[in-house]
Amino acid sequence: MKAVSIYIHIPFCIRKCLYCDFLSAPAGSQEMENYVEALCSEIRKESKSYVNYTVQTIFIGGGTPSVLPGRSIEQILKAVCEFYHVDQDCEISMEINPGTVTSDKLVYWKRAGINRLSIGLQSAVDQELKALGRIHTVQDFLDTYASVVKSGFDNINIDLMSAIPKQSLSSYRGTLEMITHLTPMPAHISAYSLIVEEGTPFYESAPELPDEDCEREMYKITGDFLRSMGYHQYEISNYARTGFECRHNKVYWQRGNYVGFGVGAASMVENVRFRNTEITENYVNHFLGKVSQEKEEVPVRESVQKLSVEEQMEEFMFLGLRMTKGISEKLFFEQFGRTVEQVYPGIVDEFCRKGLLCRKIDPKTGERWIALTRWGIDVSNVVMAEFLLT
Ligand code: SF4
Repeated sequence: MKAVSIYIHIPFCIRKCLYCDFLSAPAGSQEMENYVEALCSEIRKESKSYVNYTVQTIFIGGGTPSVLPGRSIEQILKAVCEFYHVDQDCEISMEINPGTVTSDKLVYWKRAGINRLSIGLQSAVDQELKALGRIHTVQDFLDTYASVVKSGFDNINIDLMSAIPKQSLSSYRGTLEMITHLTPMPAHISAYSLIVEEGTPFYESAPELPDEDCEREMYKITGDFLRSMGYHQYEISNYARTGFECRHNKVYWQRGNYVGFGVGAASMVENVRFRNTEITENYVNHFLGKVSQEKEEVPVRESVQKLSVEEQMEEFMFLGLRMTKGISEKLFFEQFGRTVEQVYPGIVDEFCRKGLLCRKIDPKTGERWIALTRWGIDVSNVVMAEFLLT
C-alpha cells in the first residue's frame, strides 16, 4: 500500500480577522450543515481513487473547524474511516480557536479520533489580539488550553505571530514566555511573521508594523528562546519537543502524496497537483447534486497540473530545504536518477562557501544531506530562488 495524507478544509469563522486572506467566512448553521454533507459526499466519491493507499495523517484546517458542532467533526471523520484505509497510528490534527471550544465539542473530538490540536493564539497580549481583529482574549486562550488538557489531549500546537501591529520585542518575548510556562508545556509551536496580503483590511489601512530589523530580531529570539526551553527547530517556522514534529506538515515539505477535500483544498498525488473550486456554493451544489438542468455545471476541480521532472526537482529542493535537516542527496538521486551536483552544478558549493548552506553526513547511515545554515534561513528566499529550473 502507498501512503497518502488527507487535508479537510472548513471555510467558516466567527468573524474575519483583519489580516486574513484564507478561504473562510462567517456562516449560519444550515450553511454549515450543507457543507458538511457535501464534504462527506466528496470524501465518499473520491475514495475509489485511493483503494491502494493507507492514510498516514489527517489535518482538519480552516477557517476555524472548531466552529462546527462536535457531531459534524465526528461525521466527517467517520466518512474517512469508513471509505479509506486509515493507519492505526494515524496523526489526526485539527485547528481550533479560543472562543469556539466547549466541553461538549471536546468529547466529540476525542471520540472521533482526533489526537492533535492546533490552537490559534497568535499573541498573549490583548491589545495585539485586538489589533489583529481576533475574536478572543488571552484569558479565552488560557481557558481553552486548560479544557483541552483536561480532556486528555497531550499533543498540542500553539500558533504564534510576530511583527504584528503594536508589538514590541519585549511584548513578543512575553508571549513566548507565557506559552512555554503553561502546564503542560505545549508539544509544538508554529511561529510565523505577519504578511500583509492584498485584499485584506490590513492592506487597505496599512497599520504601522515593527520594522524589518525588529522582525529579524523577533525571529532570532524565537529560535534562541525556544531552544533554551527544550524545543528543537525542525523547519523554518516550526519548533517541537522531541517526538512531536507535525507529521502532516512534513508530508508537504517532503513531497508525499496528499489529497485535499473541501472548498479550495489543494492536492498533490503522484506528482499531479489539483485544487477544488474556491466558490463554496458551486462546491456544495456539485456534491449535493443540486445543479440545475438549465445551467451548465461549473467544474469543481480546477487547475490539474502534471509536474514536469524539472518542477519536481525544484520542489524537492525548496520544500526540503525548509526543514532544518535539509535534503538527502541519496533520495534526490533515487527519485531523479541524477545527482544534485549534476542538476545544479556549482550552486551548493557556492552557497556553502558563502555560509548559507552546509553539507552534513549522518553519522549512523553515512547519508549526505544539504541544509540551510542559520544565516541561510534568514535569506532563504535568495537561496531557494537559485534552485528554480523552469
Ligand atoms: S481565525 Fe484564521 S481563518 Fe479565521 S478569519 Fe482569523 S485568520 Fe482567518
